Amino acid sequence: MTPEEALGRAAEAGIHQLRIPTPFAVGRVNCYLIEDEPLTLVDTGPNSGKALDELEHQLDARGHSIEDLELVILTHQHIDHLGLVEIIAARSGADVATIEAAVPFMESFGDRAEEDDQEAASLMLRHGIPEDVVFALQSVSRSFRGWGAKPKITRPLRDGEQLEIGDHRLEVQHRPGHSPSDTVFWDADRRILIAADHLISHISSNPLITRPLDGSSDRTQALVAYISSLRKTRELPAEIVLSGHGEAITDHAALIDKRFAGYERRAEKIEALIAEQPRTGYEIAQALWGNVAVTQAFLTLSEVVGHVDLLVNAGRVREVSDGDVTRYEATDEGASNPLLGEG
Ligand SMILES: [Zn+2]
Repeated sequence: MTPEEALGRAAEAGIHQLRIPTPFAVGRVNCYLIEDEPLTLVDTGPNSGKALDELEHQLDARGHSIEDLELVILTHQHIDHLGLVEIIAARSGADVATIEAAVPFMESFGDRAEEDDQEAASLMLRHGIPEDVVFALQSVSRSFRGWGAKPKITRPLRDGEQLEIGDHRLEVQHRPGHSPSDTVFWDADRRILIAADHLISHISSNPLITRPLDGSSDRTQALVAYISSLRKTRELPAEIVLSGHGEAITDHAALIDKRFAGYERRAEKIEALIAEQPRTGYEIAQALWGNVAVTQAFLTLSEVVGHVDLLVNAGRVREVSDGDVTRYEATDEGASNPLLGEG
């Protein structure tokens, strides 16, 4: 089955992909219209006139309007997925659903995003990212916030619950990793998984360092959480996985295995760099990718810290604090396969 055939099969099952433009490097975001009762939109696109215009056109092409929508499901907390939700809810009166753990974050979006940015800034400084880069990134992030939204969640979802949308029964499965709120929706009857950014065909979903949804300041190990979420998804007998960006996936187990192999290779590379000499997260990122664009600094640090977490958990690397900065050094012991070692 090609990705196009997969979309065709999903459409026959009443699940239609809408591709909404975003101003971000990732390009268009895939939203999904479930033509059933209630008429349901999974993710909305960012809060921009262009996105709203395209959403209206694509709904119209299927004989619907914004006002017809009855339920909006948000797959996770990122602005390219939820930005239009306030406008849609105001115009349609639609219910807004998301995993219950994410409700406080979403309902206080602006404040929480600011707190998250502060936390991210101190984390970046601690990992050796230069101050000017950190400040530049903070202002980029603030300027992006207008594409977000602060929805009122009228339908909190429990992990494991069955969401009935007419004759579509979707099992709600919380799959933290890419973000703490990532949730996938499993249509067991049709073997279709709506996965959003949990699994993307052409890019490895970045396990972004993000504060926990309860607002506490303990850092979660995003890649560790993501790997355990991917293991669960790998077990699903899915035939079609509908992603938040790019093409539909028809071989999710093979794709997940490829991701695991990639994490292992990268962890090995990072371990070799740390064995040469103690390094900060930023120094490791530079050794791997050179001088990346300012906007990529946090993404690459998230990648590095995620992989170092695997090595630290396996006992192969330890954190040493050097004034205000954290460096990593080799322990010359520990499990030989950090990724598979923790089962
Ligand atoms: Zn995302």
